[in-house]
Amino acid sequence: MLQMKLCGDLVLRQKCEPVEHITDDILATLDEMVAMMDEQNGVGLAAPQVGILSRFLVMMDPDSKQVFRMINPRIVSRSEKTCRMEEGCLSVLGNDGLPVFSHVVRPESVVVEWTDENGDSKMAEMAGLPARVVQHETDHLDGILFIDHLPSVKREMVMRKVKKRK
Ligand SMILES: [Zn+2]
Repeated sequence: MLQMKLCGDLVLRQKCEPVEHITDDILATLDEMVAMMDEQNGVGLAAPQVGILSRFLVMMDPDSKQVFRMINPRIVSRSEKTCRMEEGCLSVLGNDGLPVFSHVVRPESVVVEWTDENGDSKMAEMAGLPARVVQHETDHLDGILFIDHLPSVKREMVMRKVKKRK
């Protein structure tokens, strides 16, 4: 059983290693992560959030409900135009045990390349919500959390609401 890692756990702050071979173990983990994401009403989950320092993630396009299993995802271009959207994270919970939300400014659209669960190379331009999710999730693979994108005063406000990890 996979366990969700919470803010304060150093595993969330490491840079993940690229996947060299897509093993059955990785495929099974991706399926488990999709189930976990659904269960917690999330739209994305990256490997370090379940304690695995490897470059893969799952995400759902909130509009189409399409689920992606991305191995070695890479954002290859970002729009100059940015937008402000609310984000939360299954690893950043408040005292009530629910994700803490905050508005984050990021590029509005991105082009992302990845390898899918069949080993095929994929590329897609994403805008709006899916662009937001894929940027948040690929950040996790580099040890970056959405709170890192907040101005410091706002970040402190958010961190005051975050449950302290024992
Ligand atoms: Zn997250």
